[in-house]
Amino acid sequence: MNVLELNHVYKSFARSDSNGVTQAVSDINFSVNDGEFLSIVGPSGCGKSTIMRLIAGLIFPTAGTITLNGEIIKGTDTERGMVFQKPTLFLWLTVEENLNFTATMKKQRHNPDYMAEAERLLELAGLSEFRHDFPHQLSGGMAQRLALIRTMINHPKVFLLDEPLGALDAFTRMNMQDEILKLWQRSKHIVLMVTHDIDEAIYLGTRIIVMAPRPGRIRADLRNDMPYPRARTSDEFLQWRKKVLELLNFGQTIN
Ligand code: ADP
Repeated sequence: MNVLELNHVYKSFARSDSNGVTQAVSDINFSVNDGEFLSIVGPSGCGKSTIMRLIAGLIFPTAGTITLNGEIIKGTDTERGMVFQKPTLFLWLTVEENLNFTATMKKQRHNPDYMAEAERLLELAGLSEFRHDFPHQLSGGMAQRLALIRTMINHPKVFLLDEPLGALDAFTRMNMQDEILKLWQRSKHIVLMVTHDIDEAIYLGTRIIVMAPRPGRIRADLRNDMPYPRARTSDEFLQWRKKVLELLNFGQTIN
């Protein structure tokens, strides 16, 4: 069982225009286990990306600790895979070469188990027929699906998704939400997903963390036990919507 723990985590950044500092996040505490899907919502600037980058090991806390299975995170590692809003693909490599990049580096590319899994993921992402295409030949949805499976193939214990569907149109986005759910339900590893889309957070998360800005902190950490697949139009879903909007101070009706 994998356990990710954030304990009294603070992160501040030096401001370039003065001697001051920006307190990006303040006293963040939570613990996530295998099988949990954490949706993180909050206004811009409340520290969502900072939390993801801290867990990825791209930056380090100013105070507090972040541990995976009791070990302090000391840098990046394929056990914590991150997918960004803009798919960060290698533009000079084909779909297949992008997918297999890490395996090629580790000389595991021709391992039969690996090859079978790569094939399965290409199929799942609907990219089998496009394996020889280059990123510029793909649609936004296809490129993002490739970015997702390229991270998945490394079997990360923690999957970090930083607003990965933000650049997609509404319909592609809803289809991709189902893809992500399928991938997670198969692996049941830890997923943390930042989103600005409240419906997306409710549709996907077993937990919803609502953040508040200046300094970035956790306002609420809610368990979402609605069974999957979730109906976006059910009464329960709409109740959730109301609750999250109220926590974000968008709950008032305008007369
Ligand atoms: P969010 O993802 O919720 O929009 P961020 O984590 O990107 O928020 O940013 C939180 C705060 O930290 C913001 O005020 C932002 O300007 C500041 N910040 C983030 N990264 C840096 C950095 N590398 N240098 C200076 N300030 C930063």
